[in-house]
Amino acid sequence: MSRIAHGKPGLDGKTKVLGVFGYPVDHSLSPAMHNAALNSLNLNCVYLPFMVRPEDLETALKSLSSLNLLGVNLTIPHKETALKFMDYLDDSAVEVGAVNTVNLHEGRLTGYNTDGTGFWAPLSDMHYSCENAETIVLGGGGAARSVAFKLVREGAKVTLVNRTLPRAEQLALELQQHYPECSVQVLGYENRHLKETIQQASLLVNTTKVGMYPHHENSSPIEIDFLTSNLIVYDLVYNPRETFLLQAARSKGCVTLNGVKMLVMQGAAAFEIWTGCRPDTEAMEQAILQCLP
Ligand code: NAP
Repeated sequence: MSRIAHGKPGLDGKTKVLGVFGYPVDHSLSPAMHNAALNSLNLNCVYLPFMVRPEDLETALKSLSSLNLLGVNLTIPHKETALKFMDYLDDSAVEVGAVNTVNLHEGRLTGYNTDGTGFWAPLSDMHYSCENAETIVLGGGGAARSVAFKLVREGAKVTLVNRTLPRAEQLALELQQHYPECSVQVLGYENRHLKETIQQASLLVNTTKVGMYPHHENSSPIEIDFLTSNLIVYDLVYNPRETFLLQAARSKGCVTLNGVKMLVMQGAAAFEIWTGCRPDTEAMEQAILQCLP
């Protein structure tokens, strides 16, 4: 059963509160997306942005219980630090080493990471299977961790490509510790085998910030020549909606995906954890698209 009463839009004494903790937080699209979902289901609940300084994170998380919030999302720079303030951690947060969703239940905080679920949703919609398939993950940061763990769980062979090699090597080590049977290798952008490795892959995911607004003009994380039409090219960037990499991939005949659906579906997974209700993902996507140029 939902923890939130159905009711007319507007605030009253029964209104429940959700939110996002970030620093800064004013760039976040989550309030628009989640309020659209709450309104669409007529739930008496509001989702608010909270600017929480890093040194205040512990106090802010403890306040969820005092203030009787249902839960929060966490964004930069809180996702990793929050791990140690949770009472329980879902496997999704343990593996990735970061929490993006906190649920309060009976005074206890449980940390989840819904990015892997969000990432996989559009591929699953396409009936894409990566069992034993070669896949490429560009990047070695937080998003790369969620993507690489999800791909390994789906049975893919993963090549991690990152500017800072030790960061990717550390991720490869952790993947192998969690999944000893998995096939993971690390390559640098200058590696002479990169082109042929990409050409043997069925999926290439850009998890780097290259191509993201406002430094988006003509910037791609890899040589465009490396792309072939058999690749699905998936860029987690959602602003601009079509990055330079995706434009080039589309013109080469590749199937392309941007980061909008992932953003929606990681939010939808969090929404379901907090409310027990399936959100209207179409309304969430429309709310995001209205915020993007
Ligand atoms: P992060 O932890 O800061 O990692 C950033 C990554 O980008 C690192 O691997 C970094 O390489 C790489 N990078 C940055 N500048 C580079 C450059 N000039 N050349 C090559 N590599 C470069 O950030 P994150 O949280 O993983 O986010 C990464 C991207 O994913 C962002 O664009 C974010 O918007 C997007 N994202 C989208 C969603 C979604 O729902 N669609 C969710 C999460 C993230 P080094 O390790 O060498 O520094």
